Amino acid sequence: MKEKQNKGFSTRAVHAGEIRPNEFGSITTPIVQSSTFVFEDVEEIKQLADSTVERFEYARNGHPTQFAAERKLADLENAEDAVLFSTGMSAIATSLFSLLEAGDHVIVTDDAYKRTLDFCKTCLGRFNIEATFVGVCDYDAIEEAIRPNTRVFFSESPTNPHLNVVDLERLVSTFQGQDVIVISDSTLATPYNQRPLEYGVDLVIHSATKYLGGHNDLLGGVVLGKKTLTTPIREYLKITGGVIDPNSSYLLIRGLKTLELRMKRHNENGQIVAEYLERHPKVKRVYYPGLPSHPQYDVAQRQMKGFGGVVTFEVEDDSPRVLRFLSRLSTLSIGPSLGGVESLITHPATITYYGCTREERLKLGIRDGLIRLAVGVENAEDIVDDIEQALL
Ligand code: PLP
Repeated sequence: MKEKQNKGFSTRAVHAGEIRPNEFGSITTPIVQSSTFVFEDVEEIKQLADSTVERFEYARNGHPTQFAAERKLADLENAEDAVLFSTGMSAIATSLFSLLEAGDHVIVTDDAYKRTLDFCKTCLGRFNIEATFVGVCDYDAIEEAIRPNTRVFFSESPTNPHLNVVDLERLVSTFQGQDVIVISDSTLATPYNQRPLEYGVDLVIHSATKYLGGHNDLLGGVVLGKKTLTTPIREYLKITGGVIDPNSSYLLIRGLKTLELRMKRHNENGQIVAEYLERHPKVKRVYYPGLPSHPQYDVAQRQMKGFGGVVTFEVEDDSPRVLRFLSRLSTLSIGPSLGGVESLITHPATITYYGCTREERLKLGIRDGLIRLAVGVENAEDIVDDIEQALL
């Protein structure tokens, strides 16, 4: 079905990319649970080899439910193409491996998902690809870090866990005229709240495990952008094999249909909870782009439609006390991840950064009193009540 671009976000979220009409007349896209796609005769093999027909042959190279989900995602992000992976980390690792080669240099901002930092530090280095880590909104440092062999710039916006917001227009102008691919991990924003490609960013990445799936029941990742950039990444994926499976593709399609509804609620709940925490006498600091106290409040207002459900805050630097607070919660569950309908809360110092020395994590701003709350779509007053009774 050809979709008109001028339709509303939810209309496109519901209808774009679906396999309709299909053989069964089903309104939902079928889960094509097959690892292989057979040929009627040898003539069909020849046609595939000569590229005279486009068809499926082996699911690692692509399958119908994956492609339907990719079309929907590309439509929502306003991208020419989307490539889906088994996880967000697979999207990041496969994209960087496919775009970089030995001797290249990459600039990465230091307030990023821990495993992204790990990948750039440990995996890229083994292949003689050097990474420079810079402060996320330090545009002068970013410019100074550019070398003749810099091929990729990678950052998140908003960042996990400190919710820094990159000024995308300023970032893109920093790389004007340079042969550098600018990548933004937009997981915490989603295409509902922010679309970096419209600012000139080259590639957008999401952990689809988070808001895009939205129900804490799938793993997935996606890279979106112009076909000239995504095609080599897709070809690399066919070799490295981190493809999303048909069932997760279907769950993702289903989750995306309510993305606008859910994001409106996450935005609303995030704002209420952030304002509540900022008033709380036991809370030292709240990180949320919708608060006027946020350092990039003006950028966020200009660039984003809403600020999502992740609210990070700091209490006294006393890990046992923080853990006692977490264990007194009942509506909120303790656990990693974010972007699902269920609210989740985590203590990064013990849950995400357990492999780091104290000095290493303090350098990244992961203090003992730091708490990351991923507000779900429950009623805001119940989330607030739960925090109130636990934050004694
Ligand atoms: N990017 C961000 C901003 C994340 O928060 C995460 C996971 O928390 C990832 C990437 C990795 O995604 P996944 O867990 O789907 O591999």
